[in-house]
Amino acid sequence: METKNKIIEFLNYLKEIYGEYIYTEESFQGQNNPYIIKESSQAFSTSQISHSLDIFSIGTDWFSAKTLTELEQKINKCTKCNLGTTRTNFVFGDGNPKAEIVFVGEAPGEEEDIQGLPFVGKAGRLLTKLMKSVGFEREEVYICNILKCRPPKNRKPLPTEVELCKPYLLKQLELIKPKIIVALGATAVESLLNTKVKMAELRGKILNFYDIPLFVTYHPAALLRTPGLTQEFLDDLKSLKEIFEKGFKK
Ligand code: SF4
Repeated sequence: METKNKIIEFLNYLKEIYGEYIYTEESFQGQNNPYIIKESSQAFSTSQISHSLDIFSIGTDWFSAKTLTELEQKINKCTKCNLGTTRTNFVFGDGNPKAEIVFVGEAPGEEEDIQGLPFVGKAGRLLTKLMKSVGFEREEVYICNILKCRPPKNRKPLPTEVELCKPYLLKQLELIKPKIIVALGATAVESLLNTKVKMAELRGKILNFYDIPLFVTYHPAALLRTPGLTQEFLDDLKSLKEIFEKGFKK
């Protein structure tokens, strides 16, 4: 019965947003395939963000949050997956709530778990330094992760964890309305697009994520493991800066 009510609530929600037509993932792909690589300066469209198609989020307390602070307060005790019982701190995200650029990583690491803040460990400090070197101030942007809780021993997020946590990220994006999203590393790209990717083919390129340009580059932790990638990462940041200045800055 609860599922039936959820479906009714969900269909009413869709009707409110889209009218009498039911849009499916396929309908969206027909118009704007999220995996097609293209240069895009299209305006952000909250109606296409996929959290609105998440039947289990609809009607929840957090789903109607109007600000990031409200959203954080409503989800920071989350135990939807096991990571909610093993974390030290919930790591929501940090930065300018009206940021034009949002950086999305994989999941909090040890230091992030201790401090409750994203990208404050060794990789995060490197990211901040390299961003600054090309003219991005960390306070100007917003930084968060696909998962809000640290996986034990920094293991890769499980698909179920991504599935359960991703609606929170999508809600964050809906509230921030960034001009560009930067996916840091393969896990972030794969989780956002629900598909396997090869970083070598995608880095430095812009994909279309529900009409928000999605720029792909390495996760800064990869630079710590393979310092030879640092120059490529810097080249990506420079090209991001150029694209941003030319095409997306308000
Ligand atoms: S990782 Fe996400 S879904 Fe899992 S407990 Fe933490 S906030 Fe909830």
